[in-house]
Amino acid sequence: MKIAVIGAGIVGISSANWLKKYGQDVTLYDMNDPGSQASYGNAGTYAKYANIPTNSSSYFYLFPYLLLNKNSPLFISLKRLNETFPWIIKYLSNCRNEKVNHTVQHLTTLLSHMDDGYEDLFNEANVENYISRESIMYGWSTKLFFNAAKRDFSKREETGVKITTLSRDDISDLEPNINNIFYKGALFEGSYFAKNPIKVSEALMKLFIKKGGKFKKEKVISIKKTETNQINIKTSSGESLHDRVVITSGVWSNDLLKHIGDKVPLEAERGYHLVNPELKNIVKRPISWQERGTYFTPMSDGLRTGGIVEFGALNETKNERVLNFLNRALKEVFPSADLPQKTWVGFRPSVPDSLPVIGQSPKNPYIYYNFGHQHIGWSLGGISGKLVAQQICANNTDLDLSPYSVKRFKL
Ligand SMILES: Cc1cc2nc3c(=O)[nH]c(=O)nc-3n(C[C@H](O)[C@H](O)[C@H](O)COP(=O)(O)OP(=O)(O)OC[C@H]3O[C@@H](n4cnc5c(N)ncnc54)[C@H](O)[C@@H]3O)c2cc1C
Repeated sequence: MKIAVIGAGIVGISSANWLKKYGQDVTLYDMNDPGSQASYGNAGTYAKYANIPTNSSSYFYLFPYLLLNKNSPLFISLKRLNETFPWIIKYLSNCRNEKVNHTVQHLTTLLSHMDDGYEDLFNEANVENYISRESIMYGWSTKLFFNAAKRDFSKREETGVKITTLSRDDISDLEPNINNIFYKGALFEGSYFAKNPIKVSEALMKLFIKKGGKFKKEKVISIKKTETNQINIKTSSGESLHDRVVITSGVWSNDLLKHIGDKVPLEAERGYHLVNPELKNIVKRPISWQERGTYFTPMSDGLRTGGIVEFGALNETKNERVLNFLNRALKEVFPSADLPQKTWVGFRPSVPDSLPVIGQSPKNPYIYYNFGHQHIGWSLGGISGKLVAQQICANNTDLDLSPYSVKRFKL
């Protein structure tokens, strides 16, 4: 089959590679360089344990703090509040226990297959040099937040996640170079991280091309069904026909869904990072300061301080307040830090129930979706790529895809 995959972030690159494994004729489209958007600037964690949504009931009680405290990692653009408000209400309505339990169950299913989605691809693409197998650490600087998180620990442990709780001394033993402001910490067994996310994406792209895949640096403008049940794709440079289309366009996916008649409540959760080359190798693993929603990841080019959530516009204008916030967090944990040399902003593709959208469109059986991976798309790209390839090529999938179907949203 001739298959178009639209969007070359980690989700699209993985989907395209899995489709090649099934022997398909695959063209991957992106108007930007592969892996250059959300998949570029993340904290790099392969977070098998991350099955608790950010809107879990434990955090619901902290919402007033998150809205009002000057050290809160939540930023809301008042100028865009009328646009984001309906999404935020839907997001908060998913804090109810039964909804959270549903999300936890289906994120756990996906995350427990995280390695199945990547192992073969990583071996074939030879990416081990860009990956570290050190476990990810969380740190809490206050009892209040640690106690809230403890409620989630038991939920995580029930789903098979192995957590080692750390005392202040344990943290100093593991990471002697940080200013140990943490009251407690945790290590998550089976987690690991990319030291250089763009190199991982580039290596996977190389694998795809080596296997005969094609990449076109073009923007897809419209998608139309033909009378012969093919799909016509119009791009910035022309038109072409495909038997199947997979939409992996991250936060921009609704621009294409509107041509199909589907719609998803998709919002950009903006995230940022700063880079300090002089702090290269200062820590061994990503450390997440939970109260500040901030990760410190030892990347190949220096320490990457990143995270936070900002509901704001889909453009690359950076909010100085956020940059200052991250810089303050950086200085508290690494007092010797210089002014960061690089800053970045990107867009997490998020839906209110924190589950990705994976599978066939009910409006057109030749079109498939794979987007909306919110805070954990770097972890889930491989498995969701594998699942969508199975649905298209094998008519049978390792996991039931109905919980991730676009059908759960009412138009
Ligand atoms: C600060 C931050 C930290 C994060 N940390 C982690 C982490 O530690 N672990 C984790 O698992 N996840 C993390 N994430 C989330 C993760 O990065 C995202 O979920 C993931 O990268 C989404 O991948 P994607 O392929 O769906 O989207 P993207 O990488 O954004 O790719 C979508 C692609 O589609 C292309 N596109 C869009 N429209 C069109 C069109 N019409 N035609 C052609 N191309 C199109 C875009 O150019 C883009 O390249 C983090 C995110 C942020 C912002």
